[in-house]
Order: sequence, then structure tokens, then C-alpha cells
Amino acid sequence: MKPLSPTSNPPCLSPRDLELFEAVCDGTELAIAWFDAALQLPWCSCRFAEWFPRGLPPTPESEATGWEVAVRATLDDGAVRQSCLRHDCAAGGSRWYRMTCRRWNGGVLAVFADVTLQRHMEDDILRSERLQGLGGVAAGVAHDFNNYLTGILGIAGLLKETLPDDGEEVRMVSRLEGAARAASGLAGQILAYTRDDPEGVGDADLCGCVESIAALLRHTLDPRIEVRTDLRDQAVGVPLPPGRVQQVVMNLCCNARDAMPAGGTLELTVRVHGSRATLRVRDTGMGMTDEVKQRIFDPFFTTKGVGRGTGLGLAMCREIVLAAGGEMRVESTPGEGTLFEIHLPLEGRAEVEVARGGGPVEAAAGEAGGGTILVVDDEPLVRMVAERFLNRGGYTVVTADSGDAALELLRRRGDEIDLVLLDLTMPGKRGPQVVAALRRFLPELPVVITSGYSEQSVTNAAWAQAVQGFLAKPFDRKALMAAVAGALVADR
Ligand code: ADP
Ligand code: MG
Repeated sequence: MKPLSPTSNPPCLSPRDLELFEAVCDGTELAIAWFDAALQLPWCSCRFAEWFPRGLPPTPESEATGWEVAVRATLDDGAVRQSCLRHDCAAGGSRWYRMTCRRWNGGVLAVFADVTLQRHMEDDILRSERLQGLGGVAAGVAHDFNNYLTGILGIAGLLKETLPDDGEEVRMVSRLEGAARAASGLAGQILAYTRDDPEGVGDADLCGCVESIAALLRHTLDPRIEVRTDLRDQAVGVPLPPGRVQQVVMNLCCNARDAMPAGGTLELTVRVHGSRATLRVRDTGMGMTDEVKQRIFDPFFTTKGVGRGTGLGLAMCREIVLAAGGEMRVESTPGEGTLFEIHLPLEGRAEVEVARGGGPVEAAAGEAGGGTILVVDDEPLVRMVAERFLNRGGYTVVTADSGDAALELLRRRGDEIDLVLLDLTMPGKRGPQVVAALRRFLPELPVVITSGYSEQSVTNAAWAQAVQGFLAKPFDRKALMAAVAGALVADR
């Protein structure tokens, strides 16, 4: 023990008790100090002297509460209280301590735990959440961009065919095409940077992901938050990459943590019902009002302070869950807590079972076609361009602006259609869901998927086994004809 300020009021312990007390103090990872009523330090443990050689840091003026406030309050009312303390080290960098104050012997006994590591992990989680959120938004923008570029490039191509080969107009249109291609390259770079994998690579074990996150949280969360898991069903495969599942679970858990600043219970449950898995994340935190609940999935909606909340966590979770063909629900009562429920289809139980017809087939571009093609895309410009291209290639075209409209049309006139050109990401039913549904009544119909996301991220998904081709946006006439002809040849 090193007395910091040579003693005014040493603890009233017998020499034997003091010896025992000091031995216990020095045997722990905690620093302990005893403040007297004047906030002087008559006594402290060795570790305290080591951590704070010049005493406790003065509270910066910008902060409303500091250690003095906590110690004084405990002196006044005798309540046990905890607060967090930052200390800038002489060697550079800063460390974080959790201080617990308790009234003792006319003064206050303060116990300090070093929580720097925990704090850094929390910051890391927050930072990666923010980056991933931005990445998701950027990927979405790049994807929409490719839709517009399909229109621009398509119309430029069509225009060129109507213009004389050597005119000034053709050169201008060519420059337009060049600029649009450069823009598409840029969109490609954004997609590569954000490592977009909207429909996923590989299938995660839901229970395994939840278990590993729960283990991490038990170490890093405030000990007053109890983390419980109930994962009765082992190995529950869901059609999402493990990274995405972890992202979703981690986001929900961070929100639950933020909702329980004074501690509580965080419960993670996984259940399987029929062909669906359900993940429940329940907290006993502050809950939400109806107004907040209505907006939580909006990007950038947050009720947290600057620097704490991004408002992207739930928006991203929802994107991920929807892309996997799942859904997300929330129940919450102010003051009582919140329950997030996620339903996901089980991997391998989807109805997509038709094997891919042969390998990728190289077909001659511009090969004269014949037959009827259903073009499904929510973007009118893309529908128009695809229709013109296909008409010129000798195909008859029908169009649909949504998955539901396409399924309705196929139910009535399925036998007239020779191939479906299907957009991957549309509002309402998405490409994978449309494929699963149409396979029930048209198991053999060739399907070519188009997407503004990269091919690799799409074709690695399990459901991609049930389609016959992929066409990246923006596409030109040659690429479209090759994809269509390839899928039709594979079908024969
Ligand atoms: P952020 O966490 O960055 O604020 P989120 O999209 O994750 O962004 O959450 C949006 C808002 O939803 C939060 O600011 C909060 O108001 C509310 N919210 C989310 N989860 C919970 C929860 N478990 N309990 C109470 N409120 C929540
Ligand atoms: Mg959040």
C-alpha cells in the first residue's frame, strides 16, 4: 500500500484486519481507494497508485458529472452508484474505468475496474455497424444506377441503329455510350468495394451464429445485462451467408443493449416451425412508443445521440432478411421491453429443385430467335429496352412490372411462354421467390435472371441452381441475345 496523501483518517481497522484487507485488495484486478468526507484520499491500494499516480483525473468542464459528483452523492445519500471514468495516460492514449462507490466509515470506498477493452470492442462494433450500413446503402444506389444505365445504353444502342453510320449524330451517341459505360464501371467498383452479396454465398447455421454472438456478448456487455439463449434446435440452416446472419443478430443485440442502460435481460431464441425458422431477440429495456416503432426501419432514423446512433442498423437488418425471403416483426411497450422476431425460410426446403440445364452455354450473339419471352422488371425503361432488343432478334415479348403480375400471367398463359427474363430485386416478390413459385407449376420453363448486382454474388446462392442463366445490368443487345439463346439451347 502506498499512502497517496499522508494520512488524515486511516480506515478504522485493527492492524490484523488491515493486513487482511490490503492482501485481498492487492490480490485482485481492481483498484480501491477510500475517500474521506473532504474528498481527500487517506488510503488507497497499490493498484490505485499505479493506475492514478497523480490521483484521480479532474473532471473536464464539458462533462456534467465526474467522480467528485458521484462520491459526494454517495456521501450524502448512502446509495451505491456506478459511473464511468476516462483517464488520459501520460504515455498517450486513454483508458476507461468503471467506478463503484459505497459509503464506508464516514467516507466513501471506491472500487475501480479497467473496462478499456470492453469499451474498445463496443466502439468497434458501432464503427463496423456504421460502415456496413453505409456499404449497404451504397450498394443499393449502385444497383439502381445500373438499372438507369441499362435504359441509357439500350436507347443509345437502338438510336445508333437508326442513324447513318458516318454521321456526326452517331459519333455523339457513341460518346454518350462511352460515358454511360464509364458510369457503369464506377457502379461496379462501388459494388466490389461494398462486397455486395445480396442473395448470399453459402448458408449459415442460425443456432451456431447466435451462440457465437451470445458468447461474445457475455464477455463484453455490462455485467448487469444477463444474456440468455434458448436454441433447442441444433443446426438450423438458413439461406444467408454467416456474416449476414451475424450482422443481423449483432445489430439487434446492440440495440437491446442500448435500451437497457441500467441492465436487464437479453434473450435469444431459435425455433423451427415447418419450413421456417424463427429467431426472437427480446430485451427488458425501455421499449418504444408507437411513433418510434413506425419509423425504426427507415434509414437514418435514430433516437440516439450524435456519435452513438447511425439509424442504419434496422434498415439493413430488414434488407438482409427480405432478400433471403424472410420477414421481420417487432412488438414493444414503453417501459417494458421489446421483441424482434425474424422468420426465415429453411435452407434446402425451398421448392426450387429443378437442376440447372447443362453448364453455361456459349451461343452466337444475334442468332435469330423465335418464341415468346416474358420480361419481368419494375423499371419501365429496362422493360422497354429489353422488349425492343428482343423484338429485333425475332422474339415476341410480353412484359410484367412485378413478380405477382408475372406469376398471374404465367398461370393463365404459361404454355405460350418459352422463357422468362426476370429481375432479381423488385418491390414485393423478389426474383428468388418468383422462381420458387413458378417452379411449382412450370418446372421446366427456362429463366434468366437480370440484376444490377454482380453475377458472382447471385449465382452462388442456392436458389440459382433452379435458373438457366444470368445477365448483368447494364446489358447491351449482344449480351441479352446471348443469354436468351444460351438458356433456350440449354433447355433443349
Ligand atoms: P440506431 O441503433 O443507430 O439508432 P437502428 O436502426 O438500429 O439505429 O434503430 C433505430 C431506432 O430504433 C433506435 O434509435 C431506437 O430508437 C429504436 N430501437 C431499436 N431497437 C430498440 C430496442 N430493442 N428497444 C428500444 N428501442 C429500439
Ligand atoms: Mg442500432
